[in-house]
Amino acid sequence: MGPATVVFGPPMSPTTGAADVTLGLTRDPALAAAIGDISTSEIRATDSTLVSFGTRHTMSDTLSNTRGIGAARRYLFSKLQGYSQACGGCLRVEYDPAMMEMRGHPDRPMVNIVNVVAWLPGRDTTRVLVMGGHYDSCICARTDLGPLARFEATQDAPGADDDGTGTSAVIELARVFSKHFPHGLEASVIFVAYSGEEEGLYGSTHLAQRLHTAGYKIVSAFTDDIVGNVVADDGKVDSTSARIFGAEPDNGPSRELARYAWATGTIYNPTFQILPVFRLDRISRGGDHSPYVSLGDPGLRFTERLENYKRQHLPTDDFAHVNFGYVANIARLNGSVVGTLANAPAPPAAFARRDQASGGQKWMITWRPIPGAATYEVLFRRTFSPTYEKIYQAGDTTSFLLPDQLDDGWAAVRSVGSNGHRSLTSAVPPPCPTLSTRADSVAAGDLIRNCIRAPGR
Ligand SMILES: [Zn+2]
Repeated sequence: MGPATVVFGPPMSPTTGAADVTLGLTRDPALAAAIGDISTSEIRATDSTLVSFGTRHTMSDTLSNTRGIGAARRYLFSKLQGYSQACGGCLRVEYDPAMMEMRGHPDRPMVNIVNVVAWLPGRDTTRVLVMGGHYDSCICARTDLGPLARFEATQDAPGADDDGTGTSAVIELARVFSKHFPHGLEASVIFVAYSGEEEGLYGSTHLAQRLHTAGYKIVSAFTDDIVGNVVADDGKVDSTSARIFGAEPDNGPSRELARYAWATGTIYNPTFQILPVFRLDRISRGGDHSPYVSLGDPGLRFTERLENYKRQHLPTDDFAHVNFGYVANIARLNGSVVGTLANAPAPPAAFARRDQASGGQKWMITWRPIPGAATYEVLFRRTFSPTYEKIYQAGDTTSFLLPDQLDDGWAAVRSVGSNGHRSLTSAVPPPCPTLSTRADSVAAGDLIRNCIRAPGR
């Protein structure tokens, strides 16, 4: 048993922000240089071109080269192709099409949903991080158009913020990562512009399913959606903080990913404040991380701090009301998380057993060894602490006698690569497998020892 090398102070205070939330993660100079290359003007130029196509509605014109979603996707594809040519073919750029039925439409038409995808293969091509935004737009909040407003595909729907900003940030990340890491990172990274988000997350549902069917392990699925507005309707301004939405349960992979993103973002850009929100998404809203979360993957949504619903899904979602310096800061936040996590080994599956020899005061934590992990660390937090408060070095073993009372907290295990990068944490006890994750855990031969069942399950 190693000593606690880091003991954090009291849990993070929302008012003072005093506690250390960086989880012992470290700054990588090569990644910092890449993030420093993220350009506000590149992001602005991409969004400007997207808006120039008039509408990018999922059912809009696909033949014109100047108007509609077809023009938009060909533009995105050629932009990514250009980055790939510049890095010696390091990106694999593809259209990811699927014929899908528009369920909410009275005629239930089949529509070709086409994501635009660029793969940056890693040394381990079976593990993938997905960094996405959606390039389709709508004016579905126009109440004067009646119930079919969702499917109005000819009138202007600029979608400059929703989600021209997220798409432009993802395209810029593809440029910077391909330029700085042309040989890839440890895991593969997929940069994707989704279609069909506004009608029901069609593109992301398709890609998540496709990746699972093909047997990829999803390290993380991020969506940037609505990341460029800094002025609320009442005039309140916030250009220095962003929200990240990490789904329940509190010991599940999305919540662990939120803690990881909070830590890395704080390390790379301490003046840009992160507000973690511990729920799937805003109330009654959704995003392209959800289909992954439903399949048991770690998913996260990045969103501006102050939304203005008078400029969403309306012709007023225009270019003039986007703050591109702010979008660039979100992209830098994305880059810090993606770059750190893509260089780390996989997280271990970990379990806990009450230690009888200590009269139940201690716990034996065990885990499965991970290829590429040099050592392991065990973390601990009290249940009311939003992030981990202690880090123990466990060394090159697969068990650790936890001196803390696990009845009163959460532990977690993570692997440390020989390059010093840390994996996501696996919480102990883990959540019990759900219907969607049970097959995976049985296939892996997992013993779900002392798992925590969600109430009502
Ligand atoms: Zn959106």
